[in-house]
Amino acid sequence: MRIECIAIGSELLTTKRLDTNSVWISERLAGLGLWLHRKTAVGDHREDLAELCQEAFRRSEVIICTGGLGPTFDDFTKEVWADTFGVELVEDTPSREDLVAWYAQRQRVPPPANFKQVLFPEGSKPLPNPLGTAPGVLWERGGKHIFLLPGVPREMKRMWLDQVEPRLKPLAGTPMHTLRVVVCGVPESTLDQRTETIRGRHSQLDWTILAGLTQVEFVVRSTDSALLDAARAELASELGEDLACVGSGDLESVVLDALKTRNETLAVAESMSGGLVASRLTAIPGASEVFAGGAVVYSASAKLVLTGIDPAILQKHGTISEPTTLALAKGIREKLNTTWGLAITGNAGPNLDSGGKDHQLGECVVAVVGPQSEETYTFLVSGDRLDIQLRGAARALDLLRRMLCRK
Ligand code: AMP
Ligand code: MG
Repeated sequence: MRIECIAIGSELLTTKRLDTNSVWISERLAGLGLWLHRKTAVGDHREDLAELCQEAFRRSEVIICTGGLGPTFDDFTKEVWADTFGVELVEDTPSREDLVAWYAQRQRVPPPANFKQVLFPEGSKPLPNPLGTAPGVLWERGGKHIFLLPGVPREMKRMWLDQVEPRLKPLAGTPMHTLRVVVCGVPESTLDQRTETIRGRHSQLDWTILAGLTQVEFVVRSTDSALLDAARAELASELGEDLACVGSGDLESVVLDALKTRNETLAVAESMSGGLVASRLTAIPGASEVFAGGAVVYSASAKLVLTGIDPAILQKHGTISEPTTLALAKGIREKLNTTWGLAITGNAGPNLDSGGKDHQLGECVVAVVGPQSEETYTFLVSGDRLDIQLRGAARALDLLRRMLCRK
């Protein structure tokens, strides 16, 4: 069954607004075992939309349009669809009553322009909109389903959940199961090579490898969850400690969960990452159980005052060095009396004022100190300033994760 989405609105073709509706819809469809075959964004131009409606009706069994149901001159989705099939728009009395009631509740009467929202193509069915004034439309024609939904994401989602999904469920295939495996600190090409045999053995599964800024993800899909379980076990055994997480989590949730399980706590001292590690951790609800906090130790004096490190270490080795970074991790751990201390320094460019020897752009040093172990390592990451900071922060979290999973 071919399904397509049409996002309607001139703003969606500019940098002003992203089409988030079809992204959300594709996710919901996947949950039903249905696949989005195509999506298009089209401006508020009658001819362009009319052409697209004809094409879509020819090639797809389910068409989901969002946007253009409002009261203004640039909202004409229903008119164009009615023209496509040469039918008139007719008023729906219950929808008119709903519209009047909506305004009455707000001690107002509907502006004349809003009455066009209660006109529907002859033969179609209104879909109520409890969150706004634009009802949606379901039009079943020639065994095909056309859904017209509001553009406002909140209203669209509610209508989708209440009105669209229950109607699509009977058309749905076998639900797809998804296996997500996240790997951090291993380049995509290396990962590709290391998993080649496994992918070959499980070629009946649908494999995707997605390289992000700070991690690589495998997304594997199948209607058979037992096959996915087998692939997961093989990936786990091949990747060992490089496997950062399975399922919906990320580095930060894995680290927080590991700390919670062990009843341990963490403090961070961040120089080059400017608080990104703390920000990732605190984005997770309940982080306060194990994450004590930390400091953005950007200047030399902040490093000395906030972590209490020996000035001689900084003097001798400079900021971007393993001894200084290790001292920062130990210092913050002591200051906040936590089980673990993490620190990160580096050169995110474009200028460097750390003194001493020159450091390459993207050079990072991370250190993690725990009750029985300490580790420091230096690595190089690429990208612009923010990329370097994000990558450095991710590798720092990953070092902690690896140390936590070792014991
Ligand atoms: P409309 O129904 O065309 O009047 O759109 C109502 C509001 O929803 C406007 O602020 C649009 O920018 C927004 N909107 C419309 N389509 C989308 C979409 N596909 N993704 C995100 N926002 C949208
Ligand atoms: Mg619009």
